[in-house]
Amino acid sequence: MSTQIKEFKTIIAGERMSASDGATMNIINPANGAIIAKAPKCGISEVNLAVAAALKAAPEWASKTVGERSKVLLKLSQLIMANLDELAKLETMEHGSPIRKTMNFDIPLCAEQLEYFAGVGRALTGETLPVGPWCTSMAIREPLGVVGLITPWNFPALMVVWKLGAALITGNTVIVKPPSITPLTTIRLAELAMEAGVPAGAVNVVTGPGELVGEAMVQHPDVAKIGFTGDTVTGKRIMSLASSTVKQVGLELGGKNAFIVLSDADLDSAVEGAIFSAYFNTGQVCAAASRFYIHESLYDQFAAKFVEASKSLKYGDPMNMETVLGPVAYAAHRDKIEGYIGRARNAGAELLLGGERPDTPDTKDGFYVAPTVFGNCSNDMEIMRDEIFGPVIALCKFKTNEEAVALANDTKYGLCASVWTRDLRTGLQLASHIQAGTVWVNEHLMIFCETPWGGCKESGWGKDLSTMVLKEYTKTKHIYLDLSPAPVKPWYMILK
Ligand code: NAD
Repeated sequence: MSTQIKEFKTIIAGERMSASDGATMNIINPANGAIIAKAPKCGISEVNLAVAAALKAAPEWASKTVGERSKVLLKLSQLIMANLDELAKLETMEHGSPIRKTMNFDIPLCAEQLEYFAGVGRALTGETLPVGPWCTSMAIREPLGVVGLITPWNFPALMVVWKLGAALITGNTVIVKPPSITPLTTIRLAELAMEAGVPAGAVNVVTGPGELVGEAMVQHPDVAKIGFTGDTVTGKRIMSLASSTVKQVGLELGGKNAFIVLSDADLDSAVEGAIFSAYFNTGQVCAAASRFYIHESLYDQFAAKFVEASKSLKYGDPMNMETVLGPVAYAAHRDKIEGYIGRARNAGAELLLGGERPDTPDTKDGFYVAPTVFGNCSNDMEIMRDEIFGPVIALCKFKTNEEAVALANDTKYGLCASVWTRDLRTGLQLASHIQAGTVWVNEHLMIFCETPWGGCKESGWGKDLSTMVLKEYTKTKHIYLDLSPAPVKPWYMILK
């Protein structure tokens, strides 16, 4: 891909547009710090234009049959695969995710999710309610109208698509606010959506700062819902701002997820699962395992194997097909992670691996953090409590299964967790006691289109994915038909 700086446009009412004042944001390749593109730095006036466009497009999109909407989603899915190479490279360049991942995982999964929503959306039903012989009562599902989608930078394409698919198939029109550091794949996806047949105004993208563009969307009276994925602090702010218009909000927020290895676990498969769930996407995953609770009888072996396996991970240039760990997404995030590492060392956590900034020809200009492992941690340490969102792992011992559950639940978050054991009955018991939206047994990070995703406690509420999300993007209307032939109304006995 050329290193020429390309100027991307935002998409409003089917038109490619600059910000009204011409302001732009630099998009930086985290692998080398180079500016690769510019994107419009929009503001409130662009949000207002986008909302007006989405409102205008809403009746046309909602009045299509679900079969017609499904065909558009399928076409978009095909176009994504037809443009796999371009989209994968774009995502790698704006985010730093290794090309082997964006090519084989992120972009193909976007296509698959659209196929899923194109299919499952057609099975959405309402209900008829047998309240009495004198009436027919039904609960039908209607689109919400204009939906605002505010997305994070950790999976730039995927986080948009899994909301977009659900919102569009259920007949809503949308405004997407991508993160300021990674807006490029979102813009390309919206262009492809238009090519797939989404009417002008049904998918709008407004790029710009969250505090300006995001907050304007949240407070706009014509936006019916905000589907948000991001940090818990931002989620709280959105929730409070949304109250001014009594707007629905779906909140997919942060996590600090426990990985529990019981005394009877298959050690090698637990270590393999640990490596994947700790380092996938350089640890920048809401669902990443970052607190490891290991039974004391296995702790030393687990720690030794985990450290050895961590050493073998190849990090460096994400455009190299061999690279497994890319940089983190931006310089300030690298600095924040380094701050956590420094404070953990000062707090007495035992550094088992990493801790220094990598300095190889491949990494010297990028925002890299080497895999870093701390041992003998305790729940009162900052690294066991805060979401670090990087390749920094904390290991802790426990004695009993009850203690492991108590430690896992000792957090403000409730996104996900995993339990590793050969005894599935024990696995199920622990899963039922862990406060989290998802608990895996002998796996971690397995998220499918078909399975509901979303946390509890300060990890948010509402679900993405699965058939459950269809309800999140529709409202229920009760329609009552009075069929009584004679005066037999149920309220006669009160008035007459
Ligand atoms: P962030 O909250 O900083 O930003 C997310 C989005 O919100 C961005 O588009 C940003 O511009 C926008 N935003 C920022 N301030 C805003 C405001 N005041 N009003 C409206 N919008 C605003 O999060 P991030 O750093 O981009 O993403 C990382 C976080 O996302 C982590 O906490 C991670 O756990 C979480 N996440 C959660 C899930 C999940 O499914 N639960 C998935 C992915 C990421």
